[in-house]
Amino acid sequence: MTATPTKTSKSVPLHTKILSGLLIGALVGIAANLTLGGTHPLVVNVNKYLAGPIGAIFLNLLFMIVIPLVFASISLGVAGLGDLKRVGRIGAKTLGFFLFSTALSVTVGLLLVQTLRPGTRITPEVRTQLMETYGGDAAVRMQAAETSTFGIQTLVNVVTRNPVKSAVDLDLLGIIFFGIVFGAAITMITAERGKMMITFLEALNEIVLKIVDMAMKIAPYGVAGLIFGVTSRFGLSLLQPLAVYVTVVLLALTLHIVVNYSWILRLFVGISPLTFFARVRAPMITAFSTSSSSGTLPTSIATAEQRLGIPPQIAGFVLPLGATMNMNGTSLFEGVTVIFLAQVFGVSLSLGDQAIIMVMCVITAIGAAGVPGGSLPLLIGILAMFGVPGEGIALILGVDRILDMARTTTNVTGDLVATTFIAKAEGSWNASMVPDESDDPPARAA
Ligand code: ASP
Repeated sequence: MTATPTKTSKSVPLHTKILSGLLIGALVGIAANLTLGGTHPLVVNVNKYLAGPIGAIFLNLLFMIVIPLVFASISLGVAGLGDLKRVGRIGAKTLGFFLFSTALSVTVGLLLVQTLRPGTRITPEVRTQLMETYGGDAAVRMQAAETSTFGIQTLVNVVTRNPVKSAVDLDLLGIIFFGIVFGAAITMITAERGKMMITFLEALNEIVLKIVDMAMKIAPYGVAGLIFGVTSRFGLSLLQPLAVYVTVVLLALTLHIVVNYSWILRLFVGISPLTFFARVRAPMITAFSTSSSSGTLPTSIATAEQRLGIPPQIAGFVLPLGATMNMNGTSLFEGVTVIFLAQVFGVSLSLGDQAIIMVMCVITAIGAAGVPGGSLPLLIGILAMFGVPGEGIALILGVDRILDMARTTTNVTGDLVATTFIAKAEGSWNASMVPDESDDPPARAA
């Protein structure tokens, strides 16, 4: 792959610039919020004419390339793996790892929410006030939830009947399926013609990754704009009554990233977690600022290949699947929120109920779309199953963006962990293949 590593100038590496964009955007946004307030005309206009458009342009650039990138990388991945048995084996390992890490994350969330019981700290006044403020928004989301059921039809729809429509709708699962079938078919035609198609797809992949590099050049500004938009308008006063709930979600997500991913990386992947996290900063920050796993996918693929040295056929296969199916942060958030709202509304849940909630969170996280708020319709569905009023979602809507940023970061980090795990398990990569970078800690686990 010829796309260049993430350095823009000799002195300041791009990931440092992106981090600076994040910090500056957050600090200026919080300062504006505290001094002027989120509805002050200056804040509104800066968001409307400067921060908002810059953030949207960055996000649009990423989304612009998601479909060609997913198609090219997954079909190349499957064709590159060559024999279909190997594809099946990697697919099974990948899904197994997704299920394992998702179940692990829900467990962390459920243990914390049952220990700290944030729902018992919400007074009836706060509950009524939040329901009044966000009731309208909740009703809209409940309507949307009615059309997004997750069941056998979801599986049937993976077999897309119109790949062009899947592309238009950003239905990644449909495109992934088409890409897998296309890549498999390449291995079945004459070698000469197959090679022509592979050369074409390789060129397409390389071009798209070049566009990712170009998009990432404006990432520091885009990230600053997106973060300014969230922090300057955020209702900081909301944090207080929901502080324990927000803390439980953020703490559980942090524990899952810092503790669970670290031991998985050390034990099964053989890479120092410090090196890993240093290398994946760019996709983590992109996920945090965009709240979209799908939007972050181009950055994740480029990072896995360029900064972790993962073979393209593994990164191109595992990461698109991960962005759509492996949502550790989302399932954890769903589990905590269902129990939190059950506590608020006095719905008692048996151990059996909680086990079913866990399973439902794992399954629905697979079905959630990798876009901001993508999990909310499915969350409403789980609430309904356990007799917790769906309108209760109003309680958390005010803080959801902040939680979405954190859970998407977890989702994307989990996809990158899964990719290194599969690459290692397949014997096609090890930590010594991480490209040298003088400013990062040594690659191998101690
Ligand atoms: N925003 C999340 C993602 O893109 C999905 C969600 O939990 O709402 O990964």
